[in-house]
Amino acid sequence: MGLEDSCVHCGFCLESCPTYVVTRSEIHSPRGRIASVKLGISSVGIETCMFCRRCEAACPSGVEYGRLIHLRREEQPLRKAMNLLMERPKLAYRLLKASSGLNSSLIKRIRDFIPSVDSPLDYREDNPNVLLFPGCLMALSFRKTVENALRFIKSKGYKVEIVNGCCGLSHYSEGEKKRSEELIGNLKEKFKGRRVVSLSSNCSAHMREMGLQVEDFSEFALAHVNGRVNMTVTIHDPCHANLIGLTKVTRDVMRKVGIKVVEMDEPSFECGAGGGYFLYHPEISDEVMKIKAEKVKKSGVNLVLSTNPACSLALAFKGLKPVHLADILGESA
Ligand code: SF4
Ligand code: SF4
Repeated sequence: MGLEDSCVHCGFCLESCPTYVVTRSEIHSPRGRIASVKLGISSVGIETCMFCRRCEAACPSGVEYGRLIHLRREEQPLRKAMNLLMERPKLAYRLLKASSGLNSSLIKRIRDFIPSVDSPLDYREDNPNVLLFPGCLMALSFRKTVENALRFIKSKGYKVEIVNGCCGLSHYSEGEKKRSEELIGNLKEKFKGRRVVSLSSNCSAHMREMGLQVEDFSEFALAHVNGRVNMTVTIHDPCHANLIGLTKVTRDVMRKVGIKVVEMDEPSFECGAGGGYFLYHPEISDEVMKIKAEKVKKSGVNLVLSTNPACSLALAFKGLKPVHLADILGESA
């Protein structure tokens, strides 16, 4: 029996799916995608899935949709090249800097979406007792957040080493079976017996689902934070982090420090970035980003707590003000 066979075609997942919401097309719905797998036919829907896995949370039959898409998707050269580049954030930084004179539509889209990049931060104290894992996109596009996280962890008396690299979530979502396994295997070796704090919450979720013992920054913060912060935010829930309950921890931290939270409608509705999806399906991505921005605006609060870099970039792309937990706690640490 295949993973697709537990789908009973009830449609409970449809309204949770961002690509269905913006297209109203069965082809671009979880049910339609699963039907194509059952029938053994190729469908463009398999490629237009954002891999947010919101359908999994909505499904009463427990369809393991993420695994199904991972197994079904075939590797594609452009995506493979982009993923390979993100495995090396320092090289990605140099290439992005060098590409400033180029005008291909792909480069333009990357520059519009990631307006500034920094060289990933290197840091190592003697005998470190915490490894800080920023995640590839965080290291490249939010160096200040990495610095704030580092300051916060050090202020609690820990010695830190930063480990720059990639967890392989994009590889996994895009069907790169062998490479995603290799990346997780490498991290398992590197992290063995160490305390690891992960700064990008969707990476934290992926690594945990793949059997790695990592602590999300929100969990580290909850155990160590004290004092009060006078601030009002609305919260965006990154999709994978939400699936394993990390977004509840974020709210616990907010309560502990007294930050006022004004909830938006459907906080876990996809941000529209979808990892590298914004590059490969810009029209659908833009429509999803538009809906997300409307939900934020309706909350009446401009400052959006977002613990995952791709989501933060999507929110900023729509003119909103994303802020990471590490920025709130680390700046004053
Ligand atoms: S994936 Fe789950 S919720 Fe969606 S149609 Fe199939 S059984 Fe229903
Ligand atoms: S993973 Fe997201 S985009 Fe893909 S079918 Fe499920 S809800 Fe839709």
